[in-house]
Amino acid sequence: MALEVASSVSNDLQSDIGGLGQAFGDANSPAVALFGSLLEERNRIHGDYPKSDFQFRQRLGEAEGILRELLDSLSFLARWEIRYSESIEPIEGDNGKPDFYGTFRILRGDNSDWDLVEQISSSPLYRGRAYALVDGHILLDLHPYLVVRDCPVCGALEVYYPNSFGEGEANLKSIDRGHPQVCSDDGILRQLRSAFTSL
Ligand SMILES: [Zn+2]
Repeated sequence: MALEVASSVSNDLQSDIGGLGQAFGDANSPAVALFGSLLEERNRIHGDYPKSDFQFRQRLGEAEGILRELLDSLSFLARWEIRYSESIEPIEGDNGKPDFYGTFRILRGDNSDWDLVEQISSSPLYRGRAYALVDGHILLDLHPYLVVRDCPVCGALEVYYPNSFGEGEANLKSIDRGHPQVCSDDGILRQLRSAFTSL
């Protein structure tokens, strides 16, 4: 699934946009293989769990090593800045085609003070979406894999990932604070169905 989402976000993993290609380029790429190893270890809980303290320590040590390698393989994310498009409007571009002028809030972890910045793009932008700005100039559309909403638990603006979704509602979970919220917005449900069924 991580490979498919990475592919959908970057459109072209071979060109390694944002570091995604190197980490998720194909099924043998480091992050994909390491995620697979962790998933395999988790699934061993059904019958193949550690039977002794020695086994437990041994397998925990292996899992810690895999986690360290996984964090290394995902270090490209430090080059990403998550931005939320607060307003977008088309403006006249230099070549006669429209450019898109946007004001963005910069996401800073669980800091609720999101700085406002302006940005112009020659590609279409949409209001209310989460984007990743990579290396200061490449803008990747992360919608609907990340969704920005007001949090009903703490009142702050938070970034959510879809934990699960069905016909009438999606269960969102914030990536910073783990706060849940149920979303029944028809537009987001339609976009989630479209994004995940095409994976
Ligand atoms: Zn919250």
